[in-house]
Amino acid sequence: MPTALDQELRDAGLRVTSGRVALLESLDHLPHSDAETLFRALKEQLPGLSVQSVHNILGDLTTAGIIRRIQPAGSPARYERRTGDNHHHVVCTGCGAISDVDCVVGEAPCLVPSHTHGFAVQQAEVTFWGLCAECQAATVAS
Ligand SMILES: [Zn+2]
Ligand SMILES: [Zn+2]
Repeated sequence: MPTALDQELRDAGLRVTSGRVALLESLDHLPHSDAETLFRALKEQLPGLSVQSVHNILGDLTTAGIIRRIQPAGSPARYERRTGDNHHHVVCTGCGAISDVDCVVGEAPCLVPSHTHGFAVQQAEVTFWGLCAECQAATVAS
């Protein structure tokens, strides 16, 4: 029985492998994870897996459009399953935690640049920076 994930991989023109399926499953539970985090989450389930193969799988899935790669300044690349909805991110300057922020107007691009320089703008990617609730609490407590 092909699962929904198998089908998603096939629809994207990718071969179904245990590594790809397992990685997609982990990303459902651990959105905005970097390769290192995903490797740690998967190494028990897939003892033969290397960090390099995680990077390779992430690259393939990103190219195929099944996952999205984001890279806040100062952070390793993070990956998520939520693609194509032009959502944005708020990143904690204290601990690096990332949360999703929905597209401001519901469709891309949700911001109008002050000057387009003649470009037909299709997308806007915004990163909001601040302190997450936990880091704020820690600041108050100390
Ligand atoms: Zn924080
Ligand atoms: Zn996100």
